[in-house]
Amino acid sequence: MSDAAVVITGLHKSFGPREVLKGIDLTVPRGEVLCIIGPSGSGKSTLLRCVNVLEEPTSGTVVVDGRDMTDPDCDIDAARRSVGMVFQSFNLFAHLNVLANLTLAQRRVLGRSKADAEKVALANLEKVGLAGRGEAQAAQLSGGQQQRVAIARALSMDPDVMLFDEPTSALDPELVGDVLGVMRTLAAEGMTMLVVTHEIQFAREVADRVLFIDDGKIVEIGPPSEVIGNPQQQRTRDFLARVL
Ligand code: ADP
Ligand code: MG
Repeated sequence: MSDAAVVITGLHKSFGPREVLKGIDLTVPRGEVLCIIGPSGSGKSTLLRCVNVLEEPTSGTVVVDGRDMTDPDCDIDAARRSVGMVFQSFNLFAHLNVLANLTLAQRRVLGRSKADAEKVALANLEKVGLAGRGEAQAAQLSGGQQQRVAIARALSMDPDVMLFDEPTSALDPELVGDVLGVMRTLAAEGMTMLVVTHEIQFAREVADRVLFIDDGKIVEIGPPSEVIGNPQQQRTRDFLARVL
């Protein structure tokens, strides 16, 4: 298998007459942490959602783990299993306890036994710093804890790639650090991660590369020391001046 986790070629995405992604070419090597920054409405979420085909590309190809997600013959459900996604809004089953949230898809989608699923769930709860909270009702946890449960849930499916769409944007400021800490740990363990974030400091410290997108096009991509530390494009400089 190639060293690339994700290969995006000539990706265009339109919603009706509105073209939101205007030709994206991007290769993400295995183990890379890529942070995606850019103005609101620039196409960040759409780009991320095209990676696991939550949005179907209008044209172009998206290959994940050597599987062409855009090939009509591709088993999308199988391919999607290798991609974990964490949203701004957690999307937990509020009425279920934490353990049930973590075991449901493992059992239904992967066909794991209850015992196996619980073992995986408990290991991942520990990884996100929530050991012992398995019996808590999801809705009773803080936002930061819920987001860490959402990360543990995604990890419990053994993904090869993790997508994060503004995972800390809905959190009270004092809860952001714990979630970013879990993401740092994952990055250090070598997980391939595509992270849409406004946390420029996190991007500076954790990203291998930073991608600045504006108006559906990649404006600049490179190491944080370049894209954040010494941006070459005026649009990147203007954006950073607004968020830093
Ligand atoms: P970002 O995440 O960078 O803020 P998005 O990818 O969410 O941007 O959206 C880019 C543009 O695409 C926006 O103008 C948004 O309104 C539009 N858009 C996103 N999803 C849809 C959709 N399902 N239908 C129509 N327009 C959409
Ligand atoms: Mg978005």
